[in-house]
Amino acid sequence: MTEVLEAAREQVLERGEGLREDQVLAVLELDDDQVEAALELAHEVRMRWCGPDIEVEGIVSLKTGGCPEDCHFCSQSGRFETPVRAVRLDIPSLVEAARQTATTGATEFCIVAAVRGPDERLMEQVREGVAAIQEAVDINVACSLGILTRDQAAELAGLGVHRYNHNLETARSYFGNVVTTHTWEERRETLELIREFGMEVCCGCIIGMGESLAQRAELAAQLASLDPHEVPLNFLDPRPGTPFAHLTPPDAREALRAIAAFRLAMPRTVLRFAGGRELTLGDLGARQGVVGGINAIIVGNYLTTLGRDPQEDLDLLAELSMPVKALSDTL
Ligand code: SF4
Repeated sequence: MTEVLEAAREQVLERGEGLREDQVLAVLELDDDQVEAALELAHEVRMRWCGPDIEVEGIVSLKTGGCPEDCHFCSQSGRFETPVRAVRLDIPSLVEAARQTATTGATEFCIVAAVRGPDERLMEQVREGVAAIQEAVDINVACSLGILTRDQAAELAGLGVHRYNHNLETARSYFGNVVTTHTWEERRETLELIREFGMEVCCGCIIGMGESLAQRAELAAQLASLDPHEVPLNFLDPRPGTPFAHLTPPDAREALRAIAAFRLAMPRTVLRFAGGRELTLGDLGARQGVVGGINAIIVGNYLTTLGRDPQEDLDLLAELSMPVKALSDTL
């Protein structure tokens, strides 16, 4: 076993201390014949520090497309010619989506809007939507509504929003190559507000947007410094019409190295498989990821691309004897 994995066994598995940035880079640079060992260790770390449960979450888009921001990977930006149309969802449909999500065994239902940050009209819909879901469905409500003001963060926490998703997307040093309409620091400030007002911090990223391995390691360290409750790990799915349409998604080995490295950087975090994984990993990758450090998945459709049939994921978890349960109940 290589030096970094030996060190990780003692540091991460035994003591629960995540890998430092230079160590994460060493994992990302492992030879192909070491990937299996890294995944096995990541799985042991996950079992030791998080337990066997897999958290399942559903997401629904309250407002799709037409976003004024220019995130180069995103087909919901109104700045690019993509097939995604601006659509808004009504409250009864939102409640129905929450109800259907709950029937899969999911414990979190995340309301997402493609916006820079919520305006008053969106906040009003969210107030109504959260109350209607809380009334009708037994599920935690999460939100992902972009950059928040202090007052908005306080209000969402007051409404009982359990978790807030806001991604760092990429390393600070690479952010300007991905987004020009807002800064990495603005994203980080919203994450600090979420924590300050007591909501769980869900903060993810996208792997494979042209960042170097060193920047990937930098990203893992920056995520770890936030001590997020959950990290959705996305792999780039190059969408037609976006500036990143021409990029080649990471191959399965590279993706699996990233899964192992991020788990070893954040031993206690809920690491969630999110968008792009069918493309990068396929069914085999989903399997290896789940036994390689991942402990949460999103069922069904992602925001703009089709995910797998929820039943396929649930069948896979049953086959691997991974109980579906809210990790937050057990931590
Ligand atoms: S990632 Fe979010 S903020 Fe960026 S363009 Fe897409 S919807 Fe807008």
